[in-house]
Amino acid sequence: MKPPVSEAILSITPYKPGKPLEELAREYGVTDAVKLASNENPLGPSPKAVEAVRKALDNLHRYPDGACHDLTAKLAEKLGVSRQEIVVGNGSDDIIAMLTRAFLQPGDEAVIADPTFLMYEIGIRTSGARVVKVPVENLGIRTDAMLEAVGNRCRIIFLCNPNNPTGAVVTDAEFRRLLDGLPPDVLLVVDEAYMEFVRDPQCANSLELRRITDRAIVTLRTFSKAYGLAGLRVGYGVMPAWVADVLHRVRQPFNVNALAQVAAVAALDDTEFLEKSIRCVHEGIDRMQAEISAMGLVCHPTQSNFFLINVGRSADDVFEAMLRQGVIVRSMRAYGYPTHIRVNAGTPAENERFLSALKRVIQEGS
Ligand code: PMP
Repeated sequence: MKPPVSEAILSITPYKPGKPLEELAREYGVTDAVKLASNENPLGPSPKAVEAVRKALDNLHRYPDGACHDLTAKLAEKLGVSRQEIVVGNGSDDIIAMLTRAFLQPGDEAVIADPTFLMYEIGIRTSGARVVKVPVENLGIRTDAMLEAVGNRCRIIFLCNPNNPTGAVVTDAEFRRLLDGLPPDVLLVVDEAYMEFVRDPQCANSLELRRITDRAIVTLRTFSKAYGLAGLRVGYGVMPAWVADVLHRVRQPFNVNALAQVAAVAALDDTEFLEKSIRCVHEGIDRMQAEISAMGLVCHPTQSNFFLINVGRSADDVFEAMLRQGVIVRSMRAYGYPTHIRVNAGTPAENERFLSALKRVIQEGS
């Protein structure tokens, strides 16, 4: 006899991260592999952040600042909000989990796009709430359809902008329509993990739009992508102070480690690194998309640091074949796209490695 586990928890499929480089080395003996599967920063961490971490090492015996004072103060100043409107997390994953834990109860509903980032569904199910999925159309999130899907048990809408894994954005006009129709008792969570990479001027910016509404908007941002700190785990949410107050009740007291805090503060000052990272991603995306289109494959437009490619055959097979070439990408089969892979921009050398591996795999398979 075992302690019982609820159906809600048993219905969860565990999150499957991009294959780690170490695993490829263990399984395939490939030691010079290239990983373009987790949308990480190709240039590494900001050198200023690395220096800040070095300086903080002597104090590892102390608990971190549970209030993240310096980081929230810096973010508040940069974003023009108060410290009370910011919650920092062990990655933005942590804030997604706090939101679903605090705002959803069994029987409630939350609306998400399909496909979108998997952690929303995991959080919703963990709370025993029902996931309402609204399929994307031509890879774009349909905000009007999401609004139509809001019933009276709905408590949260998760909007991923740009959306992972599709790379498409919600426009300012679509966002305003969503705000107009949003019932006041529904929390709108806008995950802008990739916002730094957006080039489309029509893309909605929730940090600006929150100023023109009394609806409860939570904007999620992360240091894992453009700021290059995925390994330290730090992200944040900007939200009405009353929502922050609710999250602090369920937040672990020391959820953001000491090294992550100092690194994030330093990274915010390193605008040169940030700009270089964004430039590297844009150049990488443009080069890869041009080459892949020339191979006769369909690349989907993106506003992010990754994009989808229709490889016209089993994405799982292409994923495996690419692994053997030492290049890690993602198969999108589990997301409902059995012939699509997702790849993120790497360094110029990594991008060339990817392109020649893909060429080989496609030629061998045809
Ligand atoms: N949101 C989206 C859309 C993401 O793709 C990711 C990372 N894959 C996250 C949130 C989580 O980011 P973090 O590393 O800050 O937990």
